[in-house]
Amino acid sequence: MNVKTQRLDTIRTRIASACAAAGRDPEEVRLLAVSKKQPAGLVRDFFELGQVAFGENKLQEALAKQPELEDVPIEWHFIGPVQSNKTRDLAANFDWVQSADRPKILRRLSAQRPDGMNPLNVCIQVNVDREPQKAGVAPEQLGELVALAEELPGIRLRGLMAIPRLTRDETEARASFRDMKRLYDELRRSGHRLDTLSMGMSADLELAIEEGSTMVRVGTDLLGPRPA
Ligand SMILES: *Cc1c(COP(=O)(O)O)cnc(C)c1O
Repeated sequence: MNVKTQRLDTIRTRIASACAAAGRDPEEVRLLAVSKKQPAGLVRDFFELGQVAFGENKLQEALAKQPELEDVPIEWHFIGPVQSNKTRDLAANFDWVQSADRPKILRRLSAQRPDGMNPLNVCIQVNVDREPQKAGVAPEQLGELVALAEELPGIRLRGLMAIPRLTRDETEARASFRDMKRLYDELRRSGHRLDTLSMGMSADLELAIEEGSTMVRVGTDLLGPRPA
């Protein structure tokens, strides 16, 4: 097995083991390969191994990479902070935007999704640990954004995304994931048809899956260390 096949295999095994430990069906957890800072050739190699969904966090970088991969049906996810002057390109070039976090962004993505394309899949990013410098809506403002996203044409609300604070403390990390799961469950219980809770990265995907993640976003441990 070459190193790419091996890395993909290892991540799939980690996901499957975490699901087994949590008594969950591994089909419930999708893998998003985070290809930021990685070359298009590497994305192609992983696509050929069966990985379909890739995530980018910088628009310009993604727009430079995508033309080289036009011949492969990649599912592109945007996971970086969204500036309002970037929404037109996001709406035209991505399948998912996971980091919508304010009304203006939702309205622009909706209005700018080109006619004839499927609705843009959207997750709302939640600033679950209320970090001042971090993108994401405050938990108490989530309800309003969810209601708006559901009524706008051109976009389809799929769920929530979070990047919890960096911590080595497992109890703290678990608490953030648990807060997200509670918000997600509350919304679903009150009738919102969400199917995506995007949380967990290379270092903490097991913990995130244990706490209810349905999509882990893995860069380093899947594609390898990012070039400087
Ligand atoms: C970079 C990044 C990841 C992946 O991080 P790794 O630690 O390399 O797995 C996941 N989500 C977001 C939003 C990122 O920016």
